[in-house]
Amino acid sequence: MKWTPGVDTALTERLWLTQPRKATCLAKVVDAGGEWVVLDRTVLAPQSQSHRHPQPHDQGVLWARGEKRRVDRVLERDGRLWHRVVGAALQVGDEVNLHLDPERRAKTSRAHTALHLLLPALAAAGAHMTTDPIVRHGGNLRIELADPLTPAALAAILQKANAGVAANLQVSREHATRDALHDVTPQLFHPPHPTPGPDPVELVRIAGLCCYPCDGTHVERTGLVGRIVVAEAKRGRDGFLVVARVTA
Ligand SMILES: [Zn+2]
Repeated sequence: MKWTPGVDTALTERLWLTQPRKATCLAKVVDAGGEWVVLDRTVLAPQSQSHRHPQPHDQGVLWARGEKRRVDRVLERDGRLWHRVVGAALQVGDEVNLHLDPERRAKTSRAHTALHLLLPALAAAGAHMTTDPIVRHGGNLRIELADPLTPAALAAILQKANAGVAANLQVSREHATRDALHDVTPQLFHPPHPTPGPDPVELVRIAGLCCYPCDGTHVERTGLVGRIVVAEAKRGRDGFLVVARVTA
Protein backbone atom coordinates (compact mmCIF):
# COMPACT_ATOMS: atom_id res chain seq x y z
CA MET A 1 0.00 0.00 0.00
CA LYS A 2 1.21 3.49 -0.76
CA TRP A 3 -0.11 6.91 0.05
CA THR A 4 1.14 10.43 0.44
CA PRO A 5 0.40 11.98 3.81
CA GLY A 6 -1.21 15.39 3.53
CA VAL A 7 -1.03 18.43 5.74
CA ASP A 8 -4.57 18.15 7.13
CA THR A 9 -4.28 16.10 10.29
CA ALA A 10 -7.92 16.39 11.36
CA LEU A 11 -9.15 13.19 12.91
CA THR A 12 -12.08 11.41 11.40
CA GLU A 13 -15.36 11.53 13.31
CA ARG A 14 -16.08 7.88 14.10
CA LEU A 15 -19.83 7.75 13.80
CA TRP A 16 -20.18 4.04 14.61
CA LEU A 17 -19.07 4.78 18.18
CA THR A 18 -21.89 7.20 18.93
CA GLN A 19 -24.51 6.14 16.37
CA PRO A 20 -24.00 2.40 15.88
CA ARG A 21 -27.14 2.01 13.74
CA LYS A 22 -26.15 4.73 11.29
CA ALA A 23 -25.39 3.11 7.92
CA THR A 24 -24.84 6.12 5.64
CA CYS A 25 -23.21 9.52 5.88
CA LEU A 26 -22.09 12.44 3.78
CA ALA A 27 -18.40 13.19 4.19
CA LYS A 28 -15.55 15.19 2.73
CA VAL A 29 -12.12 13.95 1.67
CA VAL A 30 -9.46 15.53 3.93
CA ASP A 31 -6.48 13.56 2.65
CA ALA A 32 -5.88 11.39 -0.38
CA GLY A 33 -3.18 9.27 -1.95
CA GLY A 34 -3.82 6.86 -4.81
CA GLU A 35 -6.95 4.84 -4.02
CA TRP A 36 -6.75 5.74 -0.31
CA VAL A 37 -8.63 8.58 1.35
CA VAL A 38 -9.14 10.00 4.82
CA LEU A 39 -12.66 11.37 5.38
CA ASP A 40 -13.81 13.94 7.92
CA ARG A 41 -16.41 11.43 9.15
CA THR A 42 -17.21 7.80 8.51
CA VAL A 43 -19.65 5.01 9.34
CA LEU A 44 -17.05 2.34 8.51
CA ALA A 45 -15.03 0.86 11.37
CA PRO A 46 -11.40 -0.09 10.66
CA GLN A 47 -9.67 -3.35 11.23
CA SER A 48 -9.47 -3.51 15.01
CA GLN A 49 -6.25 -4.59 16.64
CA SER A 50 -5.23 -2.23 19.43
CA HIS A 51 -7.07 -3.95 22.31
CA ARG A 52 -6.15 -7.58 21.60
CA HIS A 53 -9.57 -8.41 20.12
CA PRO A 54 -8.83 -8.14 16.41
CA GLN A 55 -11.83 -8.06 14.09
CA PRO A 56 -12.19 -7.46 10.34
CA HIS A 57 -12.79 -3.95 8.99
CA ASP A 58 -16.14 -2.91 7.57
CA GLN A 59 -16.78 -2.63 3.87
CA GLY A 60 -19.20 -0.51 1.88
CA VAL A 61 -19.73 1.63 -1.18
CA LEU A 62 -19.09 5.27 -1.82
CA TRP A 63 -20.68 7.67 -4.29
CA ALA A 64 -18.41 10.45 -5.52
CA ARG A 65 -18.33 12.55 -8.70
CA GLY A 66 -21.44 10.69 -9.89
CA GLU A 67 -19.76 7.28 -9.66
CA LYS A 68 -20.31 4.35 -7.33
CA ARG A 69 -17.15 2.75 -5.94
CA ARG A 70 -16.47 -0.11 -3.60
CA VAL A 71 -14.69 0.59 -0.29
CA ASP A 72 -12.93 -2.70 0.33
CA ARG A 73 -10.55 -1.83 3.18
CA VAL A 74 -10.49 0.52 6.17
CA LEU A 75 -7.46 0.67 8.40
CA GLU A 76 -6.01 2.89 11.06
CA ARG A 77 -2.53 4.28 10.75
CA ASP A 78 -1.10 6.79 13.24
CA GLY A 79 -4.59 7.58 14.51
CA ARG A 80 -6.02 8.27 11.07
CA LEU A 81 -8.57 6.14 9.25
CA TRP A 82 -7.75 5.32 5.64
CA HIS A 83 -10.41 3.99 3.29
CA ARG A 84 -9.43 2.25 0.07
CA VAL A 85 -11.84 3.26 -2.69
CA VAL A 86 -11.32 0.71 -5.46
CA GLY A 87 -10.39 2.26 -8.80
CA ALA A 88 -10.89 5.86 -7.67
CA ALA A 89 -8.48 8.78 -7.45
CA LEU A 90 -10.31 11.25 -5.23
CA GLN A 91 -9.00 14.66 -4.29
CA VAL A 92 -8.97 16.61 -1.04
CA GLY A 93 -12.27 18.53 -0.81
CA ASP A 94 -14.32 15.97 -2.77
CA GLU A 95 -17.71 15.28 -1.22
CA VAL A 96 -18.79 11.67 -0.93
CA ASN A 97 -21.83 9.67 0.12
CA LEU A 98 -20.70 6.65 2.12
CA HIS A 99 -22.79 3.48 2.64
CA LEU A 100 -21.95 0.69 5.08
CA ASP A 101 -22.38 -2.99 4.15
CA PRO A 102 -24.82 -3.70 6.99
CA GLU A 103 -24.81 -7.50 6.72
CA ARG A 104 -21.06 -7.76 7.07
CA ARG A 105 -21.12 -5.36 10.03
CA ALA A 106 -23.97 -7.28 11.71
CA LYS A 107 -22.19 -10.63 11.49
CA THR A 108 -18.93 -9.16 12.76
CA SER A 109 -20.68 -7.39 15.64
CA ARG A 110 -22.66 -10.49 16.62
CA ALA A 111 -19.49 -12.58 16.63
CA HIS A 112 -17.61 -9.98 18.66
CA THR A 113 -20.30 -9.81 21.34
CA ALA A 114 -20.36 -13.63 21.32
CA LEU A 115 -16.64 -13.53 22.09
CA HIS A 116 -17.31 -11.29 25.10
CA LEU A 117 -19.90 -13.82 26.31
CA LEU A 118 -17.45 -16.70 25.93
CA LEU A 119 -14.51 -14.98 27.67
CA PRO A 120 -15.99 -14.94 31.23
CA ALA A 121 -17.03 -18.58 30.87
CA LEU A 122 -13.53 -19.51 29.66
CA ALA A 123 -11.93 -17.58 32.53
CA ALA A 124 -14.22 -19.26 35.08
CA ALA A 125 -13.04 -22.61 33.70
CA GLY A 126 -9.39 -21.48 34.11
CA ALA A 127 -8.74 -21.59 30.36
CA HIS A 128 -5.76 -19.39 29.36
CA MET A 129 -5.52 -17.94 25.85
CA THR A 130 -2.16 -18.19 24.11
CA THR A 131 -2.91 -15.61 21.40
CA ASP A 132 -5.39 -12.80 20.82
CA PRO A 133 -8.92 -14.16 20.33
CA ILE A 134 -9.83 -13.30 16.73
CA VAL A 135 -13.19 -12.29 15.28
CA ARG A 136 -13.37 -13.35 11.66
CA HIS A 137 -15.78 -12.33 8.92
CA GLY A 138 -18.98 -14.29 8.44
CA GLY A 139 -19.80 -14.48 12.16
CA ASN A 140 -16.87 -16.70 13.12
CA LEU A 141 -14.39 -16.40 15.96
CA ARG A 142 -11.24 -18.25 16.88
CA ILE A 143 -9.75 -18.80 20.34
CA GLU A 144 -6.47 -20.58 21.06
CA LEU A 145 -6.07 -22.05 24.53
CA ALA A 146 -3.00 -23.28 26.38
CA ASP A 147 -4.59 -26.55 27.48
CA PRO A 148 -7.26 -28.87 26.07
CA LEU A 149 -10.87 -28.65 27.22
CA THR A 150 -12.89 -31.79 27.79
CA PRO A 151 -16.10 -32.02 25.75
CA ALA A 152 -18.08 -31.57 28.98
CA ALA A 153 -16.12 -28.44 29.94
CA LEU A 154 -16.58 -26.99 26.46
CA ALA A 155 -20.31 -27.74 26.55
CA ALA A 156 -20.60 -25.99 29.93
CA ILE A 157 -18.76 -22.91 28.60
CA LEU A 158 -21.04 -22.79 25.57
CA GLN A 159 -24.12 -23.15 27.76
CA LYS A 160 -23.01 -20.19 29.91
CA ALA A 161 -22.37 -18.04 26.86
CA ASN A 162 -25.78 -18.86 25.39
CA ALA A 163 -27.40 -18.11 28.75
CA GLY A 164 -25.92 -14.63 28.29
CA VAL A 165 -27.63 -14.41 24.89
CA ALA A 166 -30.95 -15.50 26.42
CA ALA A 167 -30.62 -12.86 29.18
CA ASN A 168 -30.63 -10.14 26.47
CA LEU A 169 -28.20 -7.92 28.43
CA GLN A 170 -27.33 -4.37 27.41
CA VAL A 171 -23.98 -3.86 25.64
CA SER A 172 -22.43 -0.41 26.04
CA ARG A 173 -19.19 1.40 25.33
CA GLU A 174 -17.09 3.37 27.85
CA HIS A 175 -13.76 5.17 27.96
CA ALA A 176 -11.38 5.44 30.92
CA THR A 177 -7.82 6.54 31.47
CA ARG A 178 -5.54 3.73 32.46
CA ASP A 179 -5.01 5.09 36.01
CA ALA A 180 -8.80 5.32 36.58
CA LEU A 181 -9.73 1.82 35.47
CA HIS A 182 -11.93 -0.15 37.76
CA ASP A 183 -13.98 -3.34 37.55
CA VAL A 184 -12.31 -4.43 34.31
CA THR A 185 -12.89 -8.14 33.92
CA PRO A 186 -9.60 -10.10 33.87
CA GLN A 187 -8.80 -11.98 30.68
CA LEU A 188 -6.64 -15.05 31.07
CA PHE A 189 -3.79 -14.53 28.65
CA HIS A 190 -0.72 -16.71 28.69
CA PRO A 191 1.66 -14.99 29.22
CA PRO A 192 -0.42 -12.61 31.41
CA HIS A 193 -1.54 -9.28 29.91
CA PRO A 194 -3.97 -7.73 32.41
CA THR A 195 -5.19 -4.60 30.60
CA PRO A 196 -4.43 -4.63 26.88
CA GLY A 197 -4.50 -1.55 24.70
CA PRO A 198 -3.47 2.10 24.60
CA ASP A 199 -4.40 4.88 27.03
CA PRO A 200 -7.22 5.96 27.30
CA VAL A 201 -8.71 2.51 27.23
CA GLU A 202 -11.87 1.84 25.25
CA LEU A 203 -14.13 -0.54 27.15
CA VAL A 204 -17.15 -2.59 26.19
CA ARG A 205 -19.44 -3.59 29.04
CA ILE A 206 -22.10 -6.29 29.05
CA ALA A 207 -24.36 -5.23 31.91
CA GLY A 208 -23.85 -7.33 35.02
CA LEU A 209 -21.48 -9.74 33.29
CA CYS A 210 -18.18 -8.32 32.06
CA CYS A 211 -16.23 -5.25 30.94
CA TYR A 212 -13.27 -5.70 28.56
CA PRO A 213 -10.84 -3.36 26.82
CA CYS A 214 -12.13 -3.44 23.23
CA ASP A 215 -12.33 -1.24 20.15
CA GLY A 216 -14.45 -3.59 18.05
CA THR A 217 -18.08 -3.27 17.00
CA HIS A 218 -20.89 -4.91 18.97
CA VAL A 219 -24.63 -5.48 18.93
CA GLU A 220 -26.62 -3.32 21.36
CA ARG A 221 -28.09 -6.24 23.34
CA THR A 222 -26.84 -9.79 23.74
CA GLY A 223 -30.15 -11.17 22.47
CA LEU A 224 -29.13 -9.98 19.00
CA VAL A 225 -26.13 -12.34 18.92
CA GLY A 226 -28.16 -15.42 17.97
CA ARG A 227 -27.11 -18.90 19.04
CA ILE A 228 -23.40 -19.51 19.63
CA VAL A 229 -22.17 -22.88 18.39
CA VAL A 230 -18.75 -24.55 18.30
CA ALA A 231 -17.71 -25.35 14.75
CA GLU A 232 -14.39 -26.93 15.66
CA ALA A 233 -12.47 -27.87 18.81
CA LYS A 234 -9.17 -29.68 18.48
CA ARG A 235 -5.59 -29.87 19.61
CA GLY A 236 -3.42 -27.43 17.65
CA ARG A 237 0.31 -27.02 17.29
CA ASP A 238 0.71 -25.00 20.48
CA GLY A 239 -2.42 -25.80 22.45
CA PHE A 240 -6.12 -26.16 21.86
CA LEU A 241 -8.11 -24.43 19.14
CA VAL A 242 -11.79 -23.50 19.47
CA VAL A 243 -13.62 -22.10 16.44
CA ALA A 244 -17.11 -20.82 17.24
CA ARG A 245 -19.72 -19.05 15.16
CA VAL A 246 -23.03 -17.31 15.55
CA THR A 247 -26.13 -18.67 13.89
CA ALA A 248 -29.53 -17.15 13.26
ZN1 LIG B 1 -13.71 -7.19 22.17
